[in-house]
Amino acid sequence: MIKANDPTLTSWIEIPMGSDFPIQNLPFGIFKTTYLSAVAGVAIGNYVLDLVYLHEHGFFDGLGLPSGIFNQKYLNDFMALGKKKTREVRERISELLRHDNDELKSNIGARELALIPMAEVQMLLPVRIPNYTDFYSSEEHATNVGSMFRDPKNALLPNWKHLPVGYHGRASSIVVSGTPIHRPKGQIKPADSDLPVFGPSQKLDFELEMAFITCKDTKLGTSISTRHAEDYIFGFVLFNDWSARDIQQWEYVPLGPFLGKNFGSTISPWIVTMDALEPFRVKGPDQSPSVLPYLAIEGEKNFDVTLEVLIQPEKSETTPVSRSNFKYLYWNVNQQVAHHTVNGCNIQVGDLYASGTISGPSPGSFGSMLELSWNGQRPLHLTNGSQRTFIEDGDTVIMRGHAEKNNVRIGFGECKGKILPAL
Ligand code: CA
Repeated sequence: MIKANDPTLTSWIEIPMGSDFPIQNLPFGIFKTTYLSAVAGVAIGNYVLDLVYLHEHGFFDGLGLPSGIFNQKYLNDFMALGKKKTREVRERISELLRHDNDELKSNIGARELALIPMAEVQMLLPVRIPNYTDFYSSEEHATNVGSMFRDPKNALLPNWKHLPVGYHGRASSIVVSGTPIHRPKGQIKPADSDLPVFGPSQKLDFELEMAFITCKDTKLGTSISTRHAEDYIFGFVLFNDWSARDIQQWEYVPLGPFLGKNFGSTISPWIVTMDALEPFRVKGPDQSPSVLPYLAIEGEKNFDVTLEVLIQPEKSETTPVSRSNFKYLYWNVNQQVAHHTVNGCNIQVGDLYASGTISGPSPGSFGSMLELSWNGQRPLHLTNGSQRTFIEDGDTVIMRGHAEKNNVRIGFGECKGKILPAL
């Protein structure tokens, strides 16, 4: 039992109703303020807890943490301490924030300095990401795309139910929530022409995904089994894998996604630990045909996390456009790790592994505009009276996610990005 997950725990810090960050969550991130440069923090209610302050003032004494571990631009070195140690830190933070613990509560001076209102911080990219892999693990998404571009009767390619399909993405253009993205330009081939033209994408899309971040290096030539995969996973973020469908459609044969994808991807700033998600495990979809032995799993490997996407046009109100769930994924994270490393590929601390677009069974749960508008054939009606088939300049796309059970809500905050005109 992870004590910090106890649903009966309460904090001496007031947690607003519906907050993503109760005492049972305690996600890690990197923030700065007008007076602090990049330091590690934990979200609690409407506050950020400054871990550098706590460490320097003895609140983590006895845990044997290296000096300066939180005073860094990224969480990589902290995560690399291993899950046993980072779990001890989360347990200690939970203890300090409990209603009946006086260590920080009764130390007014320390409280003032360690707790910073969220409104006063700027969240930064929490990890240095050496490698980014994008899977394609939603059966509903793969079926929708296959039906649209190939054959509705044979929507899934023959390999799809035998392995978690994926490709290596671009790590350098992953940005933190709030960073605007310019509409990409590229080669597009109009349907009525034999030749491509060059210009801004006319089919700019989002992809609703979640991603996990790894906390342990492996040696080239070694593999990770499904059974041990979780020792390597620190936590999860929301992930918007922006996609230019028209650029993608022309370029992707035969080697797959390239410039239609690598102009930007957005992550939410708080890494929700795998530990915090433990109570929300559920069984995944039945896998038939049965998988090869190296992909076999035991137990519940999916997570019940409600996901939503909203579009906010420039200076206008927000419209919810999709509601999906992380639990729909056909291939789970254990299988993704095992498959990724079965050939001896090494993984590194801070790697980001995205799920692929998470679509559910009903049209309202599709995770991309490509599917929601069925490649432009069915425009979406926004509350401000306008219509969308794809994302327009000035639109902000907002993704949210949370798990909820026993009156505990483990939220991810927001993954948000605004599209600016092409440069
Ligand atoms: Ca993707």
